[in-house]
Amino acid sequence: MPPRHSLPEALLTTLSTTRGRSDRLTHTEHLPARRARYAPWPDWIRPEISASAQAMGVRQPWAHQAEAMNLAKSGQSVVIATGTASGKSLGYLGPVLSDLLDGTEARNGRGATALYLAPTKALAADQRRRAAELAPPRVRAALYDGDTPPEEREWVRQYASYVLTNPDMLHRGILPAHARWSSFLKTLRYVVVDECHGYRGVFGSHVAQVLRRLRRICARYGSSPVFLLASATTADPAVTARRLTGLPAEAVTEDASPRGPMVFGLWEPPLTENVGENGAPVRRTATAEAAHLLTDLVERETRTVVFVRSRRAAELVALQTQDQLGRPLADRVAAYRGGYLADERRALERELHSGRLLGLASTSALELGVDVSGLDAVLMAGYPGTRASLWQQAGRAGREAQGALAVLIARDDPLDTYLVHHPEALFATPVEATVLDPDNPHVLAPHLCAAAAELPLTDPDLELFGPSAAPLLPVLERRGLLRRRGDAWYWTRRERAADAVDLRGSGGSPVQIVEAPTGRLLGTVDASAAHTTVHTGAVHLHQGRSYLVRDFDLENSVALVEPADPPYTTSARDITSISVLSTDTTVDWGEGRLSFGSVEVVNQVVGYLRKRISTGEIMGESKLDLPPRTLRTRAVWWSVTEDQLLDADIPPDQLPGAAHAAEHASIGLLPLFATCDRWDIGGVSVPLHPDTGLPTVFVYDGHPGGAGFAERGFRRAAQWLTATREAIAACECERGCPSCVQSPKCGNGNDPLDKAAAVRLLDVLLAGAPEAAAEPGRGGEAGRDRGADGDRPSGHPGRPSPTQAADGAGEAARAAEAARAAERAGTPEGKPGEEPGPDGPTGEGDGPPGAS
Ligand SMILES: [Zn+2]
Ligand SMILES: [Zn+2]
Repeated sequence: MPPRHSLPEALLTTLSTTRGRSDRLTHTEHLPARRARYAPWPDWIRPEISASAQAMGVRQPWAHQAEAMNLAKSGQSVVIATGTASGKSLGYLGPVLSDLLDGTEARNGRGATALYLAPTKALAADQRRRAAELAPPRVRAALYDGDTPPEEREWVRQYASYVLTNPDMLHRGILPAHARWSSFLKTLRYVVVDECHGYRGVFGSHVAQVLRRLRRICARYGSSPVFLLASATTADPAVTARRLTGLPAEAVTEDASPRGPMVFGLWEPPLTENVGENGAPVRRTATAEAAHLLTDLVERETRTVVFVRSRRAAELVALQTQDQLGRPLADRVAAYRGGYLADERRALERELHSGRLLGLASTSALELGVDVSGLDAVLMAGYPGTRASLWQQAGRAGREAQGALAVLIARDDPLDTYLVHHPEALFATPVEATVLDPDNPHVLAPHLCAAAAELPLTDPDLELFGPSAAPLLPVLERRGLLRRRGDAWYWTRRERAADAVDLRGSGGSPVQIVEAPTGRLLGTVDASAAHTTVHTGAVHLHQGRSYLVRDFDLENSVALVEPADPPYTTSARDITSISVLSTDTTVDWGEGRLSFGSVEVVNQVVGYLRKRISTGEIMGESKLDLPPRTLRTRAVWWSVTEDQLLDADIPPDQLPGAAHAAEHASIGLLPLFATCDRWDIGGVSVPLHPDTGLPTVFVYDGHPGGAGFAERGFRRAAQWLTATREAIAACECERGCPSCVQSPKCGNGNDPLDKAAAVRLLDVLLAGAPEAAAEPGRGGEAGRDRGADGDRPSGHPGRPSPTQAADGAGEAARAAEAARAAERAGTPEGKPGEEPGPDGPTGEGDGPPGAS
């Protein structure tokens, strides 16, 4: 009998050798089967728990589960960062449920309690079921979220020993009412933070401050819970866990769960005859390529799911595949996406399971709480943004012993281009870390207010909230939000402090999109993206339909649209300037320099282009009269000297195109190192910047006060810019295309861009990069820090820094931001919209404006 994985391998060979596709498979990775490693049940586990687990088929825990259990039981906070389906929940449920069961023997039946936090209600509900399966009913597990009826809430507070909720509810419902939760909090033994890699960027920074508030309240009631975090596989999970909770955490990363063999192909669609902006060649889209491959797989009766990034793409892939297949096979392919009714989805899942359906094109909605697994093949039309999502998607194929096929099809952008040519970035040690910045004063300020409202803030509390807290308090006092009396700070307002901040808000009130003829509200767009996406004259896509913006009413935050089907798309033109407010850290890279600090970005949308859909040809340009907007944020920037330009053979007329091209590609590649989207960050390149006196390229966070992404770029700069250089050099186009240096959100119409000079520019910069930085996280970091991020006492890397120690400018600039942050207190903030379309929410310039 041939080895089991021969089938997927044969399939991949067939796909890549037929129909003239010989150049498209860039890499084949054989992921061998992994044997399970078991460990004995810890002897302190309550026999009721291990017996239930055994009844469910878990005879012994896997080694990593036992390791996590023992660490937790010893009182050590721990983060379990292992793959999909590696049983992370048993790792924390073992100690949690054992202790809760012990607690039921207390006189009041509740001698120990635990809190579970999930990013979604669905996950919390799923976990409640799990807890109920493992523990006897006297361990009372209960959901506490927005759907919990008021009469039930009182019961949960008084009697539940395991409360499952989400960070929003903790922030708004539990902490402000802590007195009513006192008996629960007094005995709080564990806090479980599930799917903690989801707490990233601004949202993650908010959650980090909510957890600090929780720790402070617990301390007041005399408890000091152990934090148990579950994460997807990322770089530096212990560092992330520490940033999130403020506590040191032990990382468990050796996955001991079994895995079937997998053949993983990396695939690059071919260049087409079409030309795009400035005559650039255009690749076949990942979705069109996916439809071709799906057609072949369905013809071979291979059960396959294609993951795409938008609802529209799901429909397109299904339609195109059906067309190519013809009857009767066409009936065995369908689309599956968020927005379908639950019944429709269940029906599709059943049909896929039974084999009636062979091909499904799905948005990533399939990942959430739905158990579709054991497929023969998974196609991914575009890198799903993070390694965690990639493995979640690939993991849908062949979970059992049989082999499976997974194929990542590159989209036409620099990150995907890089990945399909650098398999080590996907299959070796992860370089992408979950990034957040809890010290952002815009994030911190409202939480200090909320904390003061919960219990007056005292000086010893400040350490908990990090180094930005102390300078913020006087600012909040001047704003009339806090008042100092004796040695404590008090909340002075009548309204609830917690209502001033929405953890998932992105700042500013969202713009409403209203259909003019009917008055129907179609949706909203973030204030920060509105100028570029819904300006008067813009073509706006909504659920696959196209609209024209008739009027953008700035004052009332309303865009009036009407259905229209023009033969063009629009793209905004803007002017962006950037100035350095303060420099936290500077590193010499030979003659060049790399810096990190605070900047002010001023952006003005001045017009838009109309581009013919079929050819990309520019049909015309219109002017717009919109006010400039200012964003104060954090940035990483690098500059080179005149001599370096001479060495690189870059004459003055090539410099703007070289810097601009390098900037675009570097924005595209940062998501490989930080859990951001290219739409979360922006960039500016300047041939002679007044603040540095040199040619300088900036990449900044698109959120007021920053989100940690630029900082991560600074810390991994050598790797990041090396990858940027590789992505540009690897692209087979001659003079630049969307796969390398063109950006879909360029405010300058992707002009000028000089691909070849960009490579030379990066080469001359990287020649001076310190060796140590090329091996980050191994004690390198250009020798700036005392060890890894997690070892710093303040928990905030980069500060204090040499520059800042001299003049304190870094913290001062951040503290000044508090004023702006505080100003937003009481302003309801925007909700995130639905999942981004194929290209996410449109930014501008080379980045998200995120204007204040
Ligand atoms: Zn290219
Ligand atoms: Zn640009």
